[in-house]
Amino acid sequence: MSPTIDTKTPAVHHDLPTPDPESPTRTRQPYKLSTLCVAVENPSMKDQYGSSSVPIYQSATFKGVGNEYDYSRSGNPTRSHLEHHIAKISSAARAFAVSSGMAALDVILRLLRPGDEIIAGDDLYGGTNRLLTFIRTHVGVTVHHVDTTDPNAVIPFIHPTKTAMVLLESPTNPLLKIADLALISKEVKERAPNAIVVVDNTMMSPYLQRPLEHGADIVYDSATKYLSGHHDLMAGMITCNRDDLAKQIAFTINSVGNALTPIDCFLLLRGVKTMAVRMDRQQATSQLVATYLHSLGFKVHYPGLPDHPGREIHQRISDGNGAVLSFETGDKELSEKIVGSTRLWGISVSFGCVNSLISMPCVMSHASIDPAIRAARGLPEDLIRLCVGIEDSSDLLDDLEHALVDAGAIALSAQQNKYVRVPPGHVALNKAVEQLAIGSSNSRGVEHEWFVSAPGKVILFGEHAVVHGVTAIAASVDLRCYGLTTPRNDGKLSVHFNDINDFQAEWDIESLPWGASAPLGHHERHPEDLDQQLIEAIHAGPLRELGPDKDQARNAALAFLYMYIKLTNAERPSVHFDVRATLPVGAGLGSSASFSTCAATALLLLSHRVTLPSIPPPISAEHLHLSHHGRHAIEKHNAEEANRWAFIAEKILHGNPSGVDNSVAVFGGALTYNRPGFGKPSGMESIQGFGSLRFLLTNSKVPRDTKKLVAGVGLMKQEQPEVVGSILDSIENISAQAKRSLADSTEFGRENLLRDLSVMISENHKHLVSLGVSHPSLEIIREKTAAPPYNLSTKLTGAGGGGCAVTLIPDDFSDTSMKDLLSELTECGFDPYLTSVGGSGLGILSPYPEHRNASAKDIHPGQVTPPETPDEAITSDPGDSIKTSFETKSLLELTGWAQNLGKWLYV
Ligand code: PLP
Repeated sequence: MSPTIDTKTPAVHHDLPTPDPESPTRTRQPYKLSTLCVAVENPSMKDQYGSSSVPIYQSATFKGVGNEYDYSRSGNPTRSHLEHHIAKISSAARAFAVSSGMAALDVILRLLRPGDEIIAGDDLYGGTNRLLTFIRTHVGVTVHHVDTTDPNAVIPFIHPTKTAMVLLESPTNPLLKIADLALISKEVKERAPNAIVVVDNTMMSPYLQRPLEHGADIVYDSATKYLSGHHDLMAGMITCNRDDLAKQIAFTINSVGNALTPIDCFLLLRGVKTMAVRMDRQQATSQLVATYLHSLGFKVHYPGLPDHPGREIHQRISDGNGAVLSFETGDKELSEKIVGSTRLWGISVSFGCVNSLISMPCVMSHASIDPAIRAARGLPEDLIRLCVGIEDSSDLLDDLEHALVDAGAIALSAQQNKYVRVPPGHVALNKAVEQLAIGSSNSRGVEHEWFVSAPGKVILFGEHAVVHGVTAIAASVDLRCYGLTTPRNDGKLSVHFNDINDFQAEWDIESLPWGASAPLGHHERHPEDLDQQLIEAIHAGPLRELGPDKDQARNAALAFLYMYIKLTNAERPSVHFDVRATLPVGAGLGSSASFSTCAATALLLLSHRVTLPSIPPPISAEHLHLSHHGRHAIEKHNAEEANRWAFIAEKILHGNPSGVDNSVAVFGGALTYNRPGFGKPSGMESIQGFGSLRFLLTNSKVPRDTKKLVAGVGLMKQEQPEVVGSILDSIENISAQAKRSLADSTEFGRENLLRDLSVMISENHKHLVSLGVSHPSLEIIREKTAAPPYNLSTKLTGAGGGGCAVTLIPDDFSDTSMKDLLSELTECGFDPYLTSVGGSGLGILSPYPEHRNASAKDIHPGQVTPPETPDEAITSDPGDSIKTSFETKSLLELTGWAQNLGKWLYV
């Protein structure tokens, strides 16, 4: 039903402000309600200065004797204006403004005497129930809760003399049940002439429903809601047409002193002026939201839906459907997830505000009702209430859809090409399976193992020159570091750094220096500077026994413990962290950054700072399209969080890192980097759009001294500024050209890209040789790869002076040549690794059983297909097999084995 309010006029015509007829033949029509809402005028209270808005009479007392106002508890001009205005739009003779909706009900309930009986609805606002319970237990009033949506259920409780009050809400909150206010009022009046019919009209406001027109004696509103509209004040309004009742109400308000303050009266008056436009917009959007949820198959409670049981009655007694609706998901936990996943819909009690709100009545507004009573009254525990505001309807629908998807309540159907509801059984089943796979939580809250991996990096162009302001290009290599956390559950924390001389250590969690660390809130970021006090405490505590020969392991353990203490203070999980890398450590390939990224991500997962989106369970084999929208990739904010913490670990390991290595480890691909302080834009920029490139990485196994090499170039620049200056310019040109070629490769073709890169690699290497940072071993590698039949281009990478060389491998390079080249290089004592560059960044092995290869046979069409041959080591208990195999797989097998475990979620 569209809001038809503009054709309605209040039944009781006030003295104002409808103008007099201009002529007997052409009468003026009375103003519509939306006009009346805006026109705050009271002819008997003309402002002496003609102020456009009612002034705030912020005064407790008024001078003189026998005047209209003497004391603000009894009366205040601002309040009188408000009360006159509300009476006018409520078809009422009298209105009273009090301090809240509950204060209004309190004033009304004081009309009762011990022994009286009340008939009240069974789906009432929680606060109303609380107050009714109070008067039942303290005042001796009997309360009958009945289903007021059925007038026949009310009749048996009406007693000709004992029934003193019938308290109704329509629609009810939060189930939107409709009571026939007109019919019940009539039945009550016929059977108990002295009984007062009271209606809580908060859900509708006088704009949409005026129960006094349907026989109610007293109507009250929580003006905290639609009347004020902005959730910036608390107020209650009581309206009635009977003088006897008005007198008693005025007496109580004056006696207890709960009238609304002048300033709140002013704010409320201001709010009421916009009520019509707010409500029109709010209920139009509500209709869209209700229709959307209904179309997905949820049980939706909203009188605007065609199948609403009270729709006809509601249309008869009201002018619109309002802006509150509720729906059931079939699962309380699912509802909690949905409520927690919205961003635009604020989680809040109450309604009637210009902002949209979402809540679960059973845990919020109706939590004060005993759960057994809630159940008896049919209030579903999974009920979600939506209170629609004035935001753009498409934003509200979009946010709701995202929340439903995130919570797993709906999923994309490839067949229907739209979101469809995941049947509640499937959600529950999936959750149970998930729980099984994840393992029961233990005292320290460890859920299950997390297997993560991050790539190393190569500097393709610009090393050394970057120190002097030249652009460097770094890219990920698919040699990776892998980190596995497994639960220990014995109060201990242990690490095993396989590639740092097989370092192993174990600590008592409680003996860690928790006290030395300033606690970090769950959403709080780590400050820019490291916590030196914590670093010292870790050195002096858990690491005190590590001698100087264990420098590398000590640093890695320090970074791990530092993050463990900072991140898991609340949970302190008892876990084992196992690290292995297919990357050579200390060869300038970013092994420390990929270690930092793995450690940071594992700890972020353990501390729940990074959570993966839950997987929508398959609805049926052909329905689901799981890879929709990259939703099962690691989301951006997770990746950013991992990058921030990996950078912290890098700071611990290196003091002053550029941030390039950890960014590549997290985001993969390639990026350009410019140091700050050279008068041009600094920072990182990702290069996208090129397919990954094959490279041979050859570790010369000659250790480097980066500091010395960097200092050497610096000295050379001082001594021969022009020569070095022109070398730097040439390198800058190469970097710029490489960036363009990589980014434009789709346009100019892969062949051209490979040819360009090959030339640039050779050129860049020559420049590095001129800067004096090569090494005889690197030159041997370069010569070997450049010789026929290979004819490949090679350059040193990183600091040079040893370390690694990179050789570009064209796509058509034959397998035989590759074999020959590899054995030649190995014979010379080098370690060659065939790898690709520019591939994926941080990866997390999906924890969902559907994504694990152990259950590959159950994977439904439409899901991302897992590798065809699951590794034989994977048994039905993937948890155990991962740990054992991880420790024992050979380095050559490691990557393939990890890939075969199941689906990896990548940045
Ligand atoms: N009636 C209904 C239907 C309500 O929803 C509320 C508050 O949420 C009240 C009464 C009480 O109003 P107040 O909070 O202004 O005291």
